[in-house]
Amino acid sequence: ARYQTGKGWYDARLTAYGPLQLDPSTAALHYAQSIFEGLKAYAQPDGSVATFRPEANAARFARGARRLAMPPVPEDGFLNAVDALVDADRDWVPTGADQTLYLRPYQLATEPFLGVRPASEYLFLVIASPAGAYFPRGVQPVSVYLSEDYIRAAPGGTGDVKCAGNYAASLLAQEQAIEAGCDQVVWLDAVEKRYVEEMGGMNLFFVLGSGADAELVTPELTGTLLPGITRDSLITLARELGHTVTERRWSVDEWRAGVADGTVTETFACGTAAVITPVGEVKARTGDFTVGDGTPGPLTMKLRESLLDIQHGRVADTHGWLHRVS
Ligand code: PMP
Repeated sequence: ARYQTGKGWYDARLTAYGPLQLDPSTAALHYAQSIFEGLKAYAQPDGSVATFRPEANAARFARGARRLAMPPVPEDGFLNAVDALVDADRDWVPTGADQTLYLRPYQLATEPFLGVRPASEYLFLVIASPAGAYFPRGVQPVSVYLSEDYIRAAPGGTGDVKCAGNYAASLLAQEQAIEAGCDQVVWLDAVEKRYVEEMGGMNLFFVLGSGADAELVTPELTGTLLPGITRDSLITLARELGHTVTERRWSVDEWRAGVADGTVTETFACGTAAVITPVGEVKARTGDFTVGDGTPGPLTMKLRESLLDIQHGRVADTHGWLHRVS
């Protein structure tokens, strides 16, 4: 759909995938007035297709639009666009275990001009692609690199929305992580540079203790990390399984000391794309350490299965998280 100030949203339509024609002065290309979302469609055992909590994506998308001085896409416009695309691409929704159709809604400023101000024309699009495992090694622990040179998000900035610029600013650290032999970057807070915030595209959880008494800690939403929908869902699921979940600040020192004295038994990252992935080796200038024994921890796997079972319709959806695409 397109937007123009004074006219509102118009021209919602379904078209074949193909190149976009943009004016060389398109505002988004210069000033990054651009946001996106990521969600998935899952083939259900009864032959239907469902998306997972798309209302939450719509709400985050609208919040991101406001932060970037863009007109928000109304919730029903967002949901209808996603549904229409999934319906049109129904044959592309894979039915294999843990296979999905990944959906990417995005919004960009298309008004052609040079000069820094909010644009008056926008485009809202949704594209789709079948998706398998996010990490090539499957549910093997990933190695992470603590970014001590660069900061992802500062207080008052855009860290809690999914805007394109956040990711552009993160790429050099990702390059450093790869050079250091790691899979992913772990970001620290901007002010004290000692609290763990999140990974490049995933939120983090730390498991303290083991068995039925295991407790979870996840960094609190300080405004500089993305409120992940997977994070939110896992907090609910873990509490239902009887585990205490605390949202609070969590320092690298606490993480390292906990691993050393055995109180921190597991660490995992979560997000729409990778679902849940265990974190193993941690590389930091202040000293490397390794969580676990190289195999995924039991609570990590249990939560992963609980979430996947709901998403793939293998258990009852008691939370109303699945949205059937009719
Ligand atoms: N943090 C960042 C920076 C992300 O890009 C993502 C992916 N959207 C997440 C966390 C996880 O969010 P979600 O669970 O909603 O996919």
